[in-house]
Amino acid sequence: MRIIAANFKMHKTRSETKKYLEELKKIKFNGVKVAVFPPATALFEDKVVGAQNAYPAINGAYTGEIGLEQLNEFNIKRVLIGHSERRHILNESQEFIAKKFNFYKEQNFEIFYCIGEPLEIRKKGLESVVEYLKAQLEGIDREYENLIIAYEPVWAIGTGVSASVEEIRDTHREIRKFTKRPILYGGSVKLNNIEEILNIENVDGVLVGSASLDVEVFKKMIEIAKEI
Ligand code: PEP
Repeated sequence: MRIIAANFKMHKTRSETKKYLEELKKIKFNGVKVAVFPPATALFEDKVVGAQNAYPAINGAYTGEIGLEQLNEFNIKRVLIGHSERRHILNESQEFIAKKFNFYKEQNFEIFYCIGEPLEIRKKGLESVVEYLKAQLEGIDREYENLIIAYEPVWAIGTGVSASVEEIRDTHREIRKFTKRPILYGGSVKLNNIEEILNIENVDGVLVGSASLDVEVFKKMIEIAKEI
């Protein structure tokens, strides 16, 4: 099954997200798994919706966070963990990320778990990349039945420059050695490269940031995935 996921990051309001979801439902997904991660203020009870982040607790004194209780209100059972923007901008440690993973695994959530190396590591070659990615999987059950891994090289996110077919193929082949779970690619996926990327061995889908913000583009991406 192909997986096509949209990460809105800190874009779109609640009313914009509502319209987006209505528009999205006008097409059939035909076996493609579709996931949409809107900001926390735009969560809806909808089977495509997941949370971009959540604190590993039911509720509590964690100012600015949302936890299980808030997700349960919308019947949300899907969460994104370990995105590079949270690792690098918000300084989330691997230990904290693993804590989130384990908490939401206990709750049987579907977890989209992101890993990806910065440019200075990529420049050192594949072996260094693999070591780096392995460290980002520390404390994570790599065969958890509701785990979906997203490989997102930091240097390809939001830059307009995707990793090359060879880089994606070689890296996904290495990641496949540590898990049988689906592996998505993310990093400047656009309408003009999605088909090529989806055809790479060990690529089970894509996680799309900026290009997913236009629902017509995202719908076309799903249509392409349906044909593969
Ligand atoms: C992302 O943030 O997960 C992402 C892949 O972003 P973009 O598609 O904009 O590179």
